[in-house]
Amino acid sequence: MKVLITGGAGFIGSHLSEKFLNEGKKVVSVDDLSTGSYENISHLTNNKNFQFVYETIFNETVVDRIVSECDMIVHLAAAVGVELVMSNQVKVIETNIHGTDTILKIANRYRKKILIASTSEVYGKNDKTPFSETDDFLMGATINARWSYACTKAIDEFLALAYHKEFNLPVIIVRLFNTVGPKQTGQYGMVIPRFVKQALKSENITVYGDGNQTRCFCHVTDVCQALSKLLYSPKAVGEIVNVGSNYEITIRDLALKIIKQTKSKSNIKMISYEKAYQSGFEDMLKRVPDISKVKKLVNFVPVKSLEEIIYDVKDYMLKTGRY
Ligand code: UDP
Repeated sequence: MKVLITGGAGFIGSHLSEKFLNEGKKVVSVDDLSTGSYENISHLTNNKNFQFVYETIFNETVVDRIVSECDMIVHLAAAVGVELVMSNQVKVIETNIHGTDTILKIANRYRKKILIASTSEVYGKNDKTPFSETDDFLMGATINARWSYACTKAIDEFLALAYHKEFNLPVIIVRLFNTVGPKQTGQYGMVIPRFVKQALKSENITVYGDGNQTRCFCHVTDVCQALSKLLYSPKAVGEIVNVGSNYEITIRDLALKIIKQTKSKSNIKMISYEKAYQSGFEDMLKRVPDISKVKKLVNFVPVKSLEEIIYDVKDYMLKTGRY
């Protein structure tokens, strides 16, 4: 079994590569190292079942050859992170739409099963709790760049479903909720690596808005377990599936928890969204997944607690010095 992982040197891709190699599969990891990093996968490069290809997924000649030689595809390559979305809009839109378009076209050419990573952002401003897969996609005005990311991912979903309906291509769409753990960088906005880094350096913990917005955080090893199960589930083909934890916490409580757990001397500093991002920025105030579908399909429930997540992130940062 040989799996192509696009974005294989990214945070989730590198964990998934490791998992597949441990299970005896072969992995071809394609990554342009734009947000991923070689350090994420350097420990895998001596494994004879692992191949790293430093390339963008827009290179159709290279991707065509790799897809023809693989059994399945996990498409994770994307521009991610709210900060990146706000500061690099053209790149985000082009990468997410053109990248998925390219990989779907080639997957269809060789009739290869493909799992596509989408995002909980596609629920947008919908204030329902929890979000289930058939809920509405509710976007803000297009002058708010944040929503461009959700729109690109929604287009990816439409395109994948269209390939499934029109050409019977085996596709699985996974909506990832906040996925966290070792190797994730805070560089593009992600809150847990940021707060843990700030706590370890005794810097102020930067809570945006009033801190009452909530998120549910899922350990990357749990997420990889769900992705792997879904990839091998015939029942998941043609489906959209939420993957994440449903343990909800406010960002202010998250900051307090991280300060306590790391025994940090940091203080909390409240920062307006306007200062953190730009004027008119809209946050999602609540984001809780309904995870009954993934449980029903592949009997998945996340097992790692928020304490374990914080511990693992802290441990990784201290051991590697990457913070
Ligand atoms: N956030 C924060 N301080 C930071 C980074 C993020 O308060 O330094 C907040 C952010 O405004 C959001 C939440 O933490 O409400 C989660 O942000 P992240 O970028 O990790 O994920 P997303 O917004 O995509 O859920």
